[in-house]
Amino acid sequence: MSQYHAPLKEMNFVMTELAGLEQVSKLPGFEDAAADTVAAILAEAAKFATDVLDPLNVVGDREGARRLDDGSVRTPTGFKDAYEQYCANGWNGLTKNPDFGGQGLPQLVSAAVEEMWHAANLAFDLCPMLTQGAIEAIELVGTEEQKQRFLPKLVSGEWAGTMNLTEAQAGSDLAAVRTRAVPQPDGSYKLYGQKIFITYGEHDYTDNIIHLVLARTPTAPEGVKGISLFIVPKFLVNADVSIGARNDVHCVSIEHKLGIHASPTAVLAYGDHGGAVGYLVGEENRGLEYMFIMMNLARFSVGLEGVGIAERAYQRAAAYAKERVQGRPVGEKGTGTIIEHPDVRRMLLSMRAQTEAMRAIAYVTAAALDNAHRHPDADARKRHQAFAELMIPIVKGWCTESAQEIAYTGVQVHGGMGYIEETGAAQHYRDARIITIYEGTTGIQANDLIGRKTARDGGKTAQSVIADMRALDAELGKQKGAEFAAIRTQFASAVPALKEAVEWMVVTYGKDARAAHAASVPYLKLWGLTTGGWQMARAALAAAKHLAGGKTDADFYRAKIATARFYADYFLPQTVALKHAIMTAGESVLALAAEQF
Ligand SMILES: Cc1cc2nc3c(=O)[nH]c(=O)nc-3n(C[C@H](O)[C@H](O)[C@H](O)COP(=O)(O)OP(=O)(O)OC[C@H]3O[C@@H](n4cnc5c(N)ncnc54)[C@H](O)[C@@H]3O)c2cc1C
Repeated sequence: MSQYHAPLKEMNFVMTELAGLEQVSKLPGFEDAAADTVAAILAEAAKFATDVLDPLNVVGDREGARRLDDGSVRTPTGFKDAYEQYCANGWNGLTKNPDFGGQGLPQLVSAAVEEMWHAANLAFDLCPMLTQGAIEAIELVGTEEQKQRFLPKLVSGEWAGTMNLTEAQAGSDLAAVRTRAVPQPDGSYKLYGQKIFITYGEHDYTDNIIHLVLARTPTAPEGVKGISLFIVPKFLVNADVSIGARNDVHCVSIEHKLGIHASPTAVLAYGDHGGAVGYLVGEENRGLEYMFIMMNLARFSVGLEGVGIAERAYQRAAAYAKERVQGRPVGEKGTGTIIEHPDVRRMLLSMRAQTEAMRAIAYVTAAALDNAHRHPDADARKRHQAFAELMIPIVKGWCTESAQEIAYTGVQVHGGMGYIEETGAAQHYRDARIITIYEGTTGIQANDLIGRKTARDGGKTAQSVIADMRALDAELGKQKGAEFAAIRTQFASAVPALKEAVEWMVVTYGKDARAAHAASVPYLKLWGLTTGGWQMARAALAAAKHLAGGKTDADFYRAKIATARFYADYFLPQTVALKHAIMTAGESVLALAAEQF
């Protein structure tokens, strides 16, 4: 059975050569993130992922989380213990504010660490991931008193957090939220309503769960401008931060799902027994605005889930392909392992190349987030923020969609055994399926990309990123050999295709919004493929520099160049076809009336 091993060399390469770890570690407050410290952190995380989380992945899938008659939820064998170890080792507060017990490390470091958790055990990691969202909300707009009361225990992991947005009638469209929040004389609120699909809405990891809940006050205007954000603890918290009375929020059921079985997805009832006590976060009616700020990081994390699961599926498929004996290798005598078959090689390399491209764009975006927060120069902060905001829907949308393809191919490499649960390939395929849906479906990411991220500034940010891509051509031109010639040629067709699509999108969004929306997901895919190709080309250039310097690890660097060339030959030609689909298919997408379906 294949074991997960974090690809540390690759991760360190992407962090240093593409994402600029050295520069990030010089930002104010990140002085502790020097390359050797970061390498040591990653090595420790890799050990935890392999030794503790990975062995539980299949246990979690088979046992699943269970709701007991008293409304409590039991997580699968070993998960609570793993969570305690996770918190004891300080992983929960890696990037969090040191004022509340966190370690204040860069997002870039956390990106690599998070990728490991997602790869080793996605269902486990959803609990800490959701807690991060709650911490962020309280830190962003909570009062000083709320921060002191809730943050230290959320940062340590003693308490967990959740995000309660979805209701039966309010999924992608949160303007339809109906949960009511009624003001009380003491300044608190009482909440009434039902939330569905709440990840880790109830569990046995922690003594308390701090729910962040979207609801409407009685005087709130209709629509998006009438939603407020509340803290609703499972147990009320006394002034001395000890645990008080049980609050009126109860888990009425948990869902039976395709994958991530160990992660309890709860239906939570608020206020069935007199009202759930809640505390307003920030100002009334600004809840959705706060959510959008926080969603950047949550969406980014889900993109990383795509990277993690893709890496895990690839490792499992590669291990199987080296063991499975079947058929005669083309042009040879006797039998061999399936990795000798060119089509199996194609599958494995496509998994690997896509995963490397996904990781690269994700880590580069993480570094931009760090710079957006900490760069001493205001203009640089603004530039990095604009880049990160453009990239977030691409990281979320493209990395999660590509992960489907990769998990699918992982099953295919296994043949019939891929369809049988005991190999583990099927679990990746099932687990991966949710990531294109939660934190906003791919369609919602694409709406964000075409509207807020492209059309709103007239394509200015998009075109400046494209200008950076074009600048790479000169460097690629200086390299010799067939590999760089292929990379340069394909990249030189992809970038103008993207440029034309951006120009089309800016114009079309303004005058024919339905056609623009019909092209939104292909447009997102075009961005993913091209930015992936950009980073793969940069990786090849960095590898060539190392090879020329005669350093060690020549095999690793040669493989990087070969993989970048494969990506260019195999994936980048799709960009030109996508551009055509974007610019022409709108009319045919909308040709049939609803009743014709
Ligand atoms: C396992 C799991 C865990 C979850 N965890 C949480 C959680 O912790 N907290 C939480 O609040 N929610 C959670 N969710 C809910 C999740 O975020 C929603 O399911 C998701 O946002 C989609 O909403 P929906 O299911 O209502 O689908 P719908 O909004 O009904 O979407 C159905 C389809 O229509 C498309 N669509 C809808 N609107 C548009 C549009 N404007 N433009 C283009 N296409 C559109 C969608 O892309 C999709 O293909 C979870 C869901 C699951 C299944």
